[in-house]
Amino acid sequence: MGKKMEVLYNSTRSSQEPVSASVAILKGLTDDGGLFVPDHIPALDKSLKELAAMSYQQIAYEVMKLYLTDFTEAELKSCIERAYDRKFDTEVIAPLTEADGAYFLELFHGSTIAFKDMALSILPHLLTTSARKNHIENEIVILTATSGDTGKAALAGFADVEGTRIVVFYPKNGVSPIQEKQMVTQKGKNTFVVGIHGNFDDAQTGVKKIFSDKQMAAEMAEHGFQFSSANSINIGRLVPQIVYYVYAYAKLLSEGRIEEGQQINVVVPTGNFGNILAAFYAKNMGLPIGKLICASNDNKVLYDFFRTGTYDRNREFVLTSSPSMDILISSNLERLIYRIAGNDPEKNAQLMAALSGQGKYEITEEMKAGLQDFYGNYASEEETAAAIRRIYEDCGYVIDTHTAVAAAVFGKYTQETGDRTPTVIASTASPFKFTRSVMNAIDQKYDSMTDFELVDELSRIANVPVPGAIEEIRNAAVLHDHICEVDEMPEMVKRFLQF
Ligand SMILES: *Cc1c(COP(=O)(O)O)cnc(C)c1O
Repeated sequence: MGKKMEVLYNSTRSSQEPVSASVAILKGLTDDGGLFVPDHIPALDKSLKELAAMSYQQIAYEVMKLYLTDFTEAELKSCIERAYDRKFDTEVIAPLTEADGAYFLELFHGSTIAFKDMALSILPHLLTTSARKNHIENEIVILTATSGDTGKAALAGFADVEGTRIVVFYPKNGVSPIQEKQMVTQKGKNTFVVGIHGNFDDAQTGVKKIFSDKQMAAEMAEHGFQFSSANSINIGRLVPQIVYYVYAYAKLLSEGRIEEGQQINVVVPTGNFGNILAAFYAKNMGLPIGKLICASNDNKVLYDFFRTGTYDRNREFVLTSSPSMDILISSNLERLIYRIAGNDPEKNAQLMAALSGQGKYEITEEMKAGLQDFYGNYASEEETAAAIRRIYEDCGYVIDTHTAVAAAVFGKYTQETGDRTPTVIASTASPFKFTRSVMNAIDQKYDSMTDFELVDELSRIANVPVPGAIEEIRNAAVLHDHICEVDEMPEMVKRFLQF
């Protein structure tokens, strides 16, 4: 307890001058291309018992104040209040549901019914507060390329947030019909959605090019704008994700399901490694977490890494029914690598250079010892579908494909180890977001139904009302119909900003 200790943020790649939290949030990435990491992981300064009596918003404050030490109490509380409000369809924000011998932590009750909302509903407020604190007068323009989920969650988070605009580029023929409809029906005067002729990589490359275009930056500044990014390596997305692990523990304790101090395990369906890294930070803050179980789909780079100590992205990219985990470079893993390298930026930079040069790197035996809290495994497409079917048949509870990867891996873990520690499974999306895959897993007979027929049928068999986010787009008007070629992307941005 005592006096609060300031947390500053270092780069994972060089010993540059550390910066404050608000500067780290504004910059997103470090100047040397690395990630910002806290110079130490702060310890929780409230007892577990005290936390057990708190609401989600109160716990959010207790956790985030320890990282965002240059925010005032009033600033941080105002960000939290504006983020975790009626946008969520439940007052508790992140409910726990017991099923199949585990507790499913439902992180999908926000505006876009996926866990990205947990961080993207607060990031806009953290960003505008950071801008104010650093005397930035320009309007912040968020530029994002999306393969579906992040774009919509960012649009929903930034819509009508004063001092910001948001431009989202998506591959015109590369997202699901529901994902496209969610984006092109987005309301908000400050939102702009553009389909490009190209795939996700083209969109991503186009955005990166705009970001690094000095001429463009100068023109932007002339008109009172500056770019920022909402992607998952921003510390302003990582910190809010620590909150729900603390909240889950507090809830289990207040409901008498665990004793104070008793360990829990967590299982996280993983792609970019942001969500599970947040659990790792929670553990290191003193939350009694035993194993961090990292669940992958057929793109099992992380499973292989935990098993062998070699991270190797040279492999076929597999399209699965859990698309938000179809990733071969887990960007947030860099923060863990830096840590197990003894917080040595040179060592980490060498490994990251090998990753971008040869597509792989190998860690030392000594570094491997730093991974003992983690267990990695993966679930095939069949195993994922089987988990959805089995849990529905046994418990009447319907989970989405990403959560099912985690549930299947949890099964493998308990079978292998016999570990009976109470376990929280991060449930990262509503089954209504991936209705077709979910319903096909339950019964092939659903194959012939239309998307919205499936939605109604899912609601019936799961006995869960259709989420507002889906109901809304059923009849919503299309508000964005811009389409462009990849090389026209900068022009589209200028057109939106009217210069
Ligand atoms: C983004 C996402 C994931 C992966 O989370 P990471 O933090 O990238 O590991 C898992 N499930 C869903 C539904 C997601 O949207």
